[in-house]
Amino acid sequence: MSKIKVAILGATGAVGQRFVQLLENHPWFQVTTLTGSDRTVRETYAEGCRWILPEPMPEYAKRMRIVPTEPGFEAALAFSALPSDTAKECEPALAEAGYAICSNASAHRMWPDVPLLIPEVNPDHTALVERQQKHRGWKGFIVTNPNCTSTGMTIAFKALQEAFGLRRAFVVSMQALSGAGYPGVASLDIGDNVIPYISGEEDKVESEPQKMLGRLNGGAIHAAPLKISAHTNRVAVTDGHTVCASVEFERPVTPAEAAQVMADFQAPALVQMLPSAPHCVIEVRPEADRPQPRRDRGAGRGMTTVVGRVREDPLLHVKFVVLSHNTIRGAAGGAILNAELLVAQKLVS
Ligand code: NAP
Repeated sequence: MSKIKVAILGATGAVGQRFVQLLENHPWFQVTTLTGSDRTVRETYAEGCRWILPEPMPEYAKRMRIVPTEPGFEAALAFSALPSDTAKECEPALAEAGYAICSNASAHRMWPDVPLLIPEVNPDHTALVERQQKHRGWKGFIVTNPNCTSTGMTIAFKALQEAFGLRRAFVVSMQALSGAGYPGVASLDIGDNVIPYISGEEDKVESEPQKMLGRLNGGAIHAAPLKISAHTNRVAVTDGHTVCASVEFERPVTPAEAAQVMADFQAPALVQMLPSAPHCVIEVRPEADRPQPRRDRGAGRGMTTVVGRVREDPLLHVKFVVLSHNTIRGAAGGAILNAELLVAQKLVS
């Protein structure tokens, strides 16, 4: 099959660079367009991008010229790594013009006709695409992936919700520096420090999982009846968001039962076949001191969610630690997996 032409919107940022790296030699997608702001438009990618990843900048991208984020480029699908306020303007215009948008931005995640998607969790929610196109008169559409902190915990919650039903969760995050984009938090603010505030983050972590864990009925999502209380913190880790979670189920559940259900969790068969799907969705570590971001964020090429310290919680039922790579599973890798699902479901060709 010939490859599907794709664009990366906001290609020079922390997430944009991950797209550039992960899409090198992708079996289904070929990057034909890179966009940026007025700061970098007309420069080559090598000139305009301050590359921050440990992997080298792919050769294919170096001489590509950065173009503005507006309709007219040659691609069927666009991966968006735009800031939310820019996405608010650009993404609907591009969807109207016929592009399929797989977005990382928060701007449209909670729109009732926009799928907020994790293929292992709610692949059926792509049915909203048809409603979105009809209702808005768009030739293209927007699909979003969740906030990078919501991602790993929602994958763990999905396994637990299916087996036992979830009522309440109390979560505390320790979020990596790359989650703030580039250049992100000033070194003098974060060195030797923890910052107990990330603008807008707690609202997202307290509301996005319910949409993803919700049921699609009559063309609309009915949010899962789960209450979440979140504290979100920035810590001096490069990549990998850690979340400490305490959860209450609909009936008492032992830590051993919860750990087994997470370890056994599998994606639907269609999702398992996708090129970026991890072999192991949730890896449950037995050690007392894992997961750790530096050691465990690379599990499943950054696409596996790593859980550990599953134990009894004296307030709710069970507590555990979840680790997820924020720019891979929580951003570019997650959006690429979403796009692969759209191809497998014949919503993009
Ligand atoms: P970032 O490092 O600040 O990068 C922003 C990118 O957007 C840059 O490429 C910038 O291009 C481009 N841009 C800015 N204004 C633009 C405009 N008016 N038109 C076109 N392009 C413009 O941010 P990031 O961390 O990559 O995040 C990107 C998006 O993903 C955000 O919505 C963020 O909330 C979301 N997200 C991030 C993470 C994460 O872990 N970092 C995880 C999940 C979701 P120039 O360099 O040309 O200025």
